[in-house]
This record gives sequence, structure tokens and C-alpha cells, in this order.
Amino acid sequence: IEKIQQAAADGRTAFSFEYFPPKTEEGVENLFERMDRMVAHGPSFCDITWGAGGSTADLTLEIANRMQNMVCVETMMHLTCTNMPVEKIDHALETIKSNGIQNVLALRGDPPHGQDKFVQVEGGFACALDLVQHIRAKYGDYFGITVAGYPEAHPDAIQGEEGATLEAYTNDLAFLKRKVDAGADLIVTQLFYDTDIFLKFVNDCREIGITCPIVPGIMPINNYKGFVRMTGFCKTKIPAEITAALDPIKDNEEAVKAYGIHLGTEMCKKILASGIKTLHLYTLNMEKSALAILMNLGLIEESKISRPLPWRPPTNVFRV
Ligand code: FAD
Repeated sequence: IEKIQQAAADGRTAFSFEYFPPKTEEGVENLFERMDRMVAHGPSFCDITWGAGGSTADLTLEIANRMQNMVCVETMMHLTCTNMPVEKIDHALETIKSNGIQNVLALRGDPPHGQDKFVQVEGGFACALDLVQHIRAKYGDYFGITVAGYPEAHPDAIQGEEGATLEAYTNDLAFLKRKVDAGADLIVTQLFYDTDIFLKFVNDCREIGITCPIVPGIMPINNYKGFVRMTGFCKTKIPAEITAALDPIKDNEEAVKAYGIHLGTEMCKKILASGIKTLHLYTLNMEKSALAILMNLGLIEESKISRPLPWRPPTNVFRV
């Protein structure tokens, strides 16, 4: 949070990169090479996810430690309540504390694979609010705490095409405020593709007295199937013009990537123009789309990119 505040005070736009733990050792080493190259562009922080249901706990802890102490980037570790009695939560927090990591993204987590509903494990927490309260009660101000925000409401609250009802959306916002009031310093949002929905969400948060920074989570479209899977899972609204632009090129991987960079750039431009000066990039462990978007925005220098970005979009080809 201090780094984001410092960037704002200096009039700079802050950006951050999110990664997930790869499945193989080779994947982990590749990720670190990529991270080294990306960190050279000066993100405020980088974060590493906590595998669904706690499936990657040890690896996430190990990667977080290496990020903080070997890649030397301000690191935020995600931590969820799924399958986590409080002893395990504290083990994770003590481990990162002893490694000098000071940032946690406190989450409830999704239900473990094969289950529909989140079930509180015995001796564990029911929601992210419990986790935020626990971290503040036990660790004071040591950790900067981030929480998740949902511009379209949490998927559980979304029914059908119309999205969440006003009542469900309002309840979701009220719950977000409780997480912030309990001690969260920062909100990172779920992915979205309708920038107006994000901007309205920020206004709605401000109206109910949420004052902390709200960082938009931007997921560049890297491939069509992944985009459909992810937006289906998160119940994300897709503006008609995006569907229309993707439909004719969905089988052309390079064209989809180029469109994803163009779209990500335009979304970020609109967000930055609204006065919000922080961007969070869901990299999906890939470097080129995230860097190309930042380069298009003038936030990083092309000369510092050590590899060519072959699928930079030709100007004016894709109009959204
Ligand atoms: P919560 O904030 O606890 O809320 C979930 C929903 O329940 C909300 O609708 C809320 O309004 C409602 N709710 C919960 N408790 C109450 C209550 N007491 N009173 C009223 N309403 C309540 N998942 C992973 O497994 N690993 C990750 O690393 C990960 N990273 C993520 C990063 C971001 C930025 C985001 C947006 C999501 C991430 N997720 C991750 C997914 C996340 O775990 C799921 O979306 C999960 O279903 C909800 O987590 P949460 O922390 O938002 O839950």
C-alpha cells in the first residue's frame, strides 16, 4: 500500500503482476525467468495465488519466499480459508512473516474440487472477513491486507443473464465494506470486460464510505477457449462488441492475442482517464500481453523489453 501511495504522490501509475504456481519444476523455473524479466519494468508488487482448496500451499509459500528474497520484488501472497484450520493459516502467515513478506490477499476461497458450496472446515474460517479479523487481531499492523472486490457481485449472487439483483449487489458491497472496516488496506477486483461496470462499482464503493484504493484486475485475453472458460466460471458480462470482434477470429490464436492486447490497452486507457492510477494484471504466467499493454500505455519502455513482442496489434486494425 505504501508503494501504491508513493506512486500516486509522485504522479506515477502503479502496476502489479499476478502469477499462479506452475504444475512442474520446469514450469517453476520458467516462471522465475519470466518474473525476472517482468520485474525489471518496476511493478509495485507481484502476487502469487493460493491453489484452489489449498492444493498448492507448500509451493505457494516457497514461490512467495523466492519472489521476495531472490527476485527481490515486493510480494503479496494469496491465502484462502478452504481446508485451512487456523493452525494451518497461522503456519502460512508465520512462514511468510519470517521470510520478510508483508502483504497478504485474504480470501475465503472457492469450494474444493467436486463440491458446489464452500464449507467451513472444523477450526477454520467461514469467510474472508473472519480471516482479515484474525490477521489484524494476531499480527497487528505487520501485514498489509488486500481483499477481493466483485464489480458484478460475487458469482454466487449472480442469477442468469441479467446478473446480480440490486439487492444482492448491495449486500455484496456492504460485505466488502465490512472487510475493509475490519482492517483491509486495498481492494483488487475480479476480472471484468465492461469498464463502465468497474467504474460504477468504484463510485458505489465510495458512496458507502469505502475509501481505500480499488485496483482493477485486468485479464488480457490470451486465447479464446480460456477466455470463455474463465468468464463462464466468474459469470462475467461480455459486452456485445467484444463478442462481435472475437467471433470471426476465435480460431486464429495470434489474432485473438492481438485483439486481447488492443482491448486491454483501451480498457486501461479509460480507467486511467477516470483518475484511477493503479492497474493489476492477471498475467496467467505469460509475459507478452501484459507487457505489450503497459508499453502501449507508455508505462514501460520498449527498449527494456528483452524479447520481441511479435503480436503487438497493428494500429487501428481492431476497433472495439
Ligand atoms: P468473501 O469475501 O468471504 O465473500 C464471498 C461471498 O459471500 C460474497 O458474495 C459475500 O458477500 C458473501 N459473504 C460471505 N460471508 C458473508 C457474511 N458473513 N455475511 C454476508 N455475506 C457474506 N481463489 C483461490 O482459491 N485462490 C486464490 O489465490 C484466489 N485469488 C483471487 C484473487 C482475486 C483478486 C479474486 C477476486 C478472487 C480470487 N480467488 C482465489 C477466488 C475467491 O477465492 C472466490 O471468489 C471465493 O468464492 C470468494 O472469496 P472472497 O474472499 O471474495 O470471499
